[in-house]
Amino acid sequence: MSDPQSVADPDAFDGALESVCFTGLAPGPKLLVLGAVHGNETCGPQAIRRAIADCRAGRLRIGRGAVTFVPVANPKAYRQGTREGDRNLNRDLHDKPVPLDYEDRVGNRLCALLRDHDALLDIHSFRSQGEPFVFFGPEDNAGDLEPFRQAAAEGAFAACLGAPTLIHGWLDNYARLISARERLGLPELSPSEGHGTTEYMRFCGGYGVTLECGNHEDPAAIEVGHGAILNALAHLGISGSAPPSRQARQVIRIVDLVICEQDGDRLEGSWKTGDAVAAGQPIARRASGDAVTAPSPGFIIFPSSSAKRGDGICYFGVASDRTL
Ligand SMILES: [Zn+2]
Repeated sequence: MSDPQSVADPDAFDGALESVCFTGLAPGPKLLVLGAVHGNETCGPQAIRRAIADCRAGRLRIGRGAVTFVPVANPKAYRQGTREGDRNLNRDLHDKPVPLDYEDRVGNRLCALLRDHDALLDIHSFRSQGEPFVFFGPEDNAGDLEPFRQAAAEGAFAACLGAPTLIHGWLDNYARLISARERLGLPELSPSEGHGTTEYMRFCGGYGVTLECGNHEDPAAIEVGHGAILNALAHLGISGSAPPSRQARQVIRIVDLVICEQDGDRLEGSWKTGDAVAAGQPIARRASGDAVTAPSPGFIIFPSSSAKRGDGICYFGVASDRTL
């Protein structure tokens, strides 16, 4: 008999995907909680393992519907302590009948899990300092980019998790990044590159949010993640706990991005996501010395001090008119 590890698929033995499911005895919604979609973001696995222990010890009672915990969604990247295995798992997430890399293989299993649930809480952390925030999806629409009809349910879910800031407009902004790169003559990106776990969940008829718990190394990020799991389960009526109150204080719509046009373009100042800027305030500086200024009062989103040509130096958001 041949050694099973010598079969053609080199990644098949590169770490199984562990999922732990608790099913209530009464019918109800099914929540999926993911950690470590990015392998170096360890607050998710720690928060999720704590929630699993809570369920097993009876501190957290699952009475209705079900919750499935996946502490580590990208085992290869997690084992390596890196953001990615072969590539970013949170991009171009679709079913791949012919998987070409590790993330395609893990992605196929994750897509099946996502299709089998109603709501998704995807727990991440970030490199910079800053307060937790939640990414959520578009308004109800029948457009081509991201058709959706669960905006009210998703918004209420996002607002209960515990993070003070909610941000939307990701996929529209990805389209802006694609055109900006086109103007610079850089290799073309496909709009489907912008599809991660939450986008896939919405395409399947469910809804989902990305919780950014804080800095990768901050122990408080684990508390944020764990608190959000408890709030999500209470909000959906899956646990017997009293529903949490709405905790979000501000909603931001991403409306633009500052792209790195050439080496030497850089952020002006040390921004964090959610920092407010005044109209006309310099937010970045071109290699030529020209300032890039805020077009209106707004907020800095995802500032990057290591942006290369074609990357976003930062995104720009404004106060959203969405009511949740
Ligand atoms: Zn992440």
